[in-house]
Amino acid sequence: MLTTRDYLNALQSGGYRITDQRRAVCDFLARTPTHPTPSQVYAQVSESHPEISRATVYNTLNALRDLGAIVEISVGGDHTHYDTNPEPHVNLVCLRCGQVVDYAGDVPLAALYEIVHAQTGFQAVSAQVQMVGFCAECQARKRDEIRRQLQASTTFLREETKR
Ligand SMILES: [Zn+2]
Ligand SMILES: [Zn+2]
Repeated sequence: MLTTRDYLNALQSGGYRITDQRRAVCDFLARTPTHPTPSQVYAQVSESHPEISRATVYNTLNALRDLGAIVEISVGGDHTHYDTNPEPHVNLVCLRCGQVVDYAGDVPLAALYEIVHAQTGFQAVSAQVQMVGFCAECQARKRDEIRRQLQASTTFLREETKR
């Protein structure tokens, strides 16, 4: 995980002045274990910095993204998340609730760097694999919905056959 200092260094190397507000955004990114959306970052940071504007937060996030310090993940629709984990890893993206979590197991993604580099000359600095599907909670919710629908239709059938 990157520290507040790492993010500030990235901003400085990009020619950005360090302000209290940019520092607050960097602080939040260094502490969050999640994959926040831009508005989540704004909501959290504005709790301690009520004067901060949405534009400042979004501009800082865009700058950090352009500098490669955070990675933008689009999961369809307007769902943009920022990944603060610089290690090569697999993101599990739920298509239903939109949550993004890191898969904790070991995946030899770093080994891919060498293969890709040998074949194409491409120098990778980061790799995220998006695995899309349905999280356990959403699957359970879906099963409940199907069960309820089935119950409703079998009740209907029983009523029908009684006649
Ligand atoms: Zn879900
Ligand atoms: Zn991730």
